[in-house]
Amino acid sequence: MKSIRILFTAALLSAALLSLHAQESPREGLSYHYGELTAPEFIKAVELSRGTCIIPAGILEKHGPHLPLATDLFLARETASRAAQLEYVLVFPQYYFGQIFEARHQPGTIAYSPELIWKILEETCEELSRNGIKKIIIVNGHGGNTNFFSYFCQSQLAARKDYVVVLFSPDSREIDAQVKELRVTNYGGHADEEETSAIYALRPDLVHAGEASTQSGKPQERLDNLPNGYTGIWWYADYPNHYAGDGSSPQKALGELILDNESKQLAELIRYLKEDHTISTLQNRFYDSSEHPLDTEQ
Ligand SMILES: [Zn+2]
Repeated sequence: MKSIRILFTAALLSAALLSLHAQESPREGLSYHYGELTAPEFIKAVELSRGTCIIPAGILEKHGPHLPLATDLFLARETASRAAQLEYVLVFPQYYFGQIFEARHQPGTIAYSPELIWKILEETCEELSRNGIKKIIIVNGHGGNTNFFSYFCQSQLAARKDYVVVLFSPDSREIDAQVKELRVTNYGGHADEEETSAIYALRPDLVHAGEASTQSGKPQERLDNLPNGYTGIWWYADYPNHYAGDGSSPQKALGELILDNESKQLAELIRYLKEDHTISTLQNRFYDSSEHPLDTEQ
């Protein structure tokens, strides 16, 4: 009887030690969500991520008549979370400050000024760097932000920085054939079959597929006579409903395929940035040279 009790106590003790170990083990116990960490945990998270943080960037804008305003934020955060589960990285809290003037005529759009979206991104990066995060990955969920984020990355060369900013650029070529096979429609780009399926895979309760055909997502072609030019009004010319495609037939399998492909590619980028220092080495060499251009070997 006594030996059974001793065995039982020993088993309890080892279980307690195991759970303590699990709590102490960063892989097991440490959240990747920046905002969920305590300050002491944050120090461990910076170490474990080797100073790498994702900013999943979305926007608040209409997504056809059937999807939520924060669709792009949901999807960018889901991609980042799935990638963080594959390769530990910090994931910055809700970030919805971006370029969205083209949807100002639609209900629910929050369109901050160009100065503010620049400042808030710049200062977010500076503050992350001050906290030991020297590798920042922007995961962009919103097509209207692509030019802005690319320009922001280019502008990192304007003055010396002690961190690097990388815009995640996924490649869909590997799944293109599968996507084509699954798709029912053959046009889109915004709140379309693919985007609707992705949010359906994640939060089916937020997809109102029955409403998807109450507005047109077909291109209106009102500026097709413009020869060789780009203008900001092009999107409104084609898609005044802020809807490009048809989201009435969402498919979980299609959404999962897209999210899975992107998160795996993102994990690959995180792994590279954690292990490889080529970008910061080249960046520093560039800053040194650009401060003394006449001394640079031609
Ligand atoms: Zn979207």
